[in-house]
Amino acid sequence: MKADKAKVFVFVDALGWKQACRYRFLEDLLPERRSVEMQFGYSCTAIPTILSGERPAVHGHLAFYDYAPGKSPFRAMRFAAPFFFPKSFWRRGRVRNVLSRIVKRLYGFTGYFQLYGIDLSHLPSMDYCEKTDMFVPGGLAPVKNLADVWGEKGFRYHISDWRMSEDHNFREAEKLLREGGTDRLFVYSAAFDAIQHDNVGRDEVLRPKVEAYAERIRALHSALESAGRPFELTVFSDHGMTPLRGTSDAPAALAETGLEWGRDYASAIDSTMARFWWLKPGAKEKVEKAFSKFPGHWLSDEEKRRHGIWREDGKFGDGVFLSAAGIQFCPSDMGVKPLNGMHGFDPQDEDSLACWLSTAPVPESVTRVCDYFNIMVS
Ligand SMILES: [Zn+2]
Repeated sequence: MKADKAKVFVFVDALGWKQACRYRFLEDLLPERRSVEMQFGYSCTAIPTILSGERPAVHGHLAFYDYAPGKSPFRAMRFAAPFFFPKSFWRRGRVRNVLSRIVKRLYGFTGYFQLYGIDLSHLPSMDYCEKTDMFVPGGLAPVKNLADVWGEKGFRYHISDWRMSEDHNFREAEKLLREGGTDRLFVYSAAFDAIQHDNVGRDEVLRPKVEAYAERIRALHSALESAGRPFELTVFSDHGMTPLRGTSDAPAALAETGLEWGRDYASAIDSTMARFWWLKPGAKEKVEKAFSKFPGHWLSDEEKRRHGIWREDGKFGDGVFLSAAGIQFCPSDMGVKPLNGMHGFDPQDEDSLACWLSTAPVPESVTRVCDYFNIMVS
């Protein structure tokens, strides 16, 4: 099927509503604009949400690691060599990167894989959510993804390869649009997220980067014009970035409880949320007491439902403590240093907001990141 209109969607990771407004990002080219509620979680939550229109409760991706001893692909690692070396050696960033590559190859993962700062002794009890490439047909099975639906509809489509540089992805997109034979295009760019983590609020760094994106997107726009076919061009993001305002030391608080990981409780501590699985009676009360000094709160079931993360099977944890905006858990399973900026706080916080910027009027239905999908497949 040849679509009457070419539709192009450019994903810019961490281009928040605040940044889009502050730098008046492509206001002339993309006059139809709306702030969008972030999907609770991280980019690893938002991307499968964007690619499927489903939320974590359905597609199963909230954070990279969940406690699931029966399902862990790493079970055999409980006998592995790492535990004979001092922990400090395995905490080094470069060692972790090499080890991540080895593990990824060993297990045949085709998705993004990184050990981050996870305690290697916990790994044999943890499952990892992104074992497969989510962008290719069947990548989120049994849930249908963008490639599945665009393929079923017979569109001539292209989805960027997330492993390639964004320079490559933008150049490739421009070439395809000039040729005029592509009905649907999804351009993936993720470098701005890392820049924002390091430089949130630093205009002198961010403004030139934002301008560079604007230039690339202008090039896509003129390629669309030169092809002489009606088109829609939309830029959207998954979240903004919240400046660092303080840290909470979860491991120290947990050590004071006298509880033992894997016997009394299990945990996955991300930068902005701490998730717990209660294994013995009384553990919940002790952890809640230890965490009462941290700014933030335990999510109610009603909040979990609203954020699309409530599951009967407790996959995402029995208890989820969400840190107050700007307060990062540090150290955490993600690393030992806080970042200048982080996302993954309350989706309604103004620093969390994502954006939808388009040549075409924004449909009323687009208010949350999970709403993008229906527009992309329409
Ligand atoms: Zn990020």
